[in-house]
Amino acid sequence: MTDKAWFSETLHDGIRFSFEADTVLYEQKTEHQHLALIENQIFGKVLMLDGVTQVTSADEFIYHEMMSHVPILAHGAAKNVLIVGGGDCGLAEEVLKHKSVDKLVQVEIDPAVVDFSKEHFADFNETVFDDSRFELVIDDGMKFVAETDRRFDVVIVDSTDPIGPGGILFTKEFYAAVRNCLTPGGVLVTQNGVPFLQKDELEQSCRFFAELYNDSSAYVICVPTYIGGHMSLGWATDNAALRKTDVATIAERFDVADIETRYYTPDVHVAAFALPKYILDAVDAGIASAQR
Ligand code: SAM
Repeated sequence: MTDKAWFSETLHDGIRFSFEADTVLYEQKTEHQHLALIENQIFGKVLMLDGVTQVTSADEFIYHEMMSHVPILAHGAAKNVLIVGGGDCGLAEEVLKHKSVDKLVQVEIDPAVVDFSKEHFADFNETVFDDSRFELVIDDGMKFVAETDRRFDVVIVDSTDPIGPGGILFTKEFYAAVRNCLTPGGVLVTQNGVPFLQKDELEQSCRFFAELYNDSSAYVICVPTYIGGHMSLGWATDNAALRKTDVATIAERFDVADIETRYYTPDVHVAAFALPKYILDAVDAGIASAQR
């Protein structure tokens, strides 16, 4: 046995996933949430907000590459991108790798997460803060999308789970406000949890998407820290063709973008939309309930 501290993920009832902390680098109650940063021998630095794992330096590339490159390369001409949440700025780093993106606005509710990540996750977000295309807005994502008159080709919701301040980012009201700030044919991608453990969350988002957008679906990724199998990323747009963009087109765009990745490939991009049956069932159930 070791006398090192253990930090447990408190998100799911009935199971517990814990990280042994080689070092507790930081612990703070911010105005919005409880923030802890620990160092773990396998995952490197682990950021937890209100007891829920947000990002780790070892596997952040999976989540951030797939949340950014899939919608941007499927869209094919994204100039203006909005990130809601994403305080660790790892997603911003991936978006800004696209030289074709003119402007990235990020709306994050908690400045402490950004300041803190700037200091502790420089290995993956250092390039963001000096990029003149990056604009950080400290505000509630709901309030921003409801009030802005700016328009975006791609909106990515890199939120906490639907508890605490992130709850509003899973509502129909929020998805409707996002729709109003998308350019025609623009695409919304959302963090939608691990369907094996959070099926209702995906089903409900798909229902709201289907009530508001022409095309509603999800795609999947595997992130070791988000336990329970595939994680789903929600997909909503009025342009149903985007999800079906063929692999040759995606590969050509990826070549032009000239981006190095560790998880994303054009084949993985296309394959990610092939949903395991129990996940497809949740998506379909959500869409069906919108049609009732
Ligand atoms: N990858 C993560 C996950 O799925 O666990 C999400 C990481 S990211 C750090 C989530 C961010 O969303 C946090 O920085 C949090 O402060 C922010 N957030 C939560 N609710 C928000 C809201 N209503 N508006 C804007 N940002 C919000």
